[in-house]
Amino acid sequence: MPKEKKKVCIFSFTCDEGCSIFLIEIFNKKLIGWLKKIELAYFLSIKDHIDVNDIDIAIVEGSITTEKDEVAIKKIRKNSKILIGMGSCSITGMPSCQRNLLSKKQLKEIEGDLKKFKFLPKCLAIKEVVKLDDEVPGCPMDEKKFIDTFEKYIN
Ligand code: SF4
Repeated sequence: MPKEKKKVCIFSFTCDEGCSIFLIEIFNKKLIGWLKKIELAYFLSIKDHIDVNDIDIAIVEGSITTEKDEVAIKKIRKNSKILIGMGSCSITGMPSCQRNLLSKKQLKEIEGDLKKFKFLPKCLAIKEVVKLDDEVPGCPMDEKKFIDTFEKYIN
């Protein structure tokens, strides 16, 4: 009997989505083979109505900047067997968390917007909010490391 396919979802939090774009390049080479073992259930920016239940492997990029982001990543963590951080933003917060480098004066100037859009007091790496089971560093992420890491969980 064929093995059940792993449900894989890719989620993008605050960033330039450069790692997702890079991932599409990797998919161009590898996805046909991987689709024998995985079902690619979701690959888009976070939306309110996403179904995040029973995920085998979630791949996440970006940083956590708002209360909404924080709720979403915790929900994804709770519903995923494996959570892989893709790119340095997810692991260290940089370069996406440049808001953290602003001076007090600069922060004062944008204080109203930060409150209005429910930004967290500090921008956080995904790894600072939830546990990552694995990490693919780099900006954009390292291709070979991603392939090796991902294949570890689908084989
Ligand atoms: S690690 Fe670099 S390429 Fe990847 S999402 Fe962050 S800024 Fe973009």
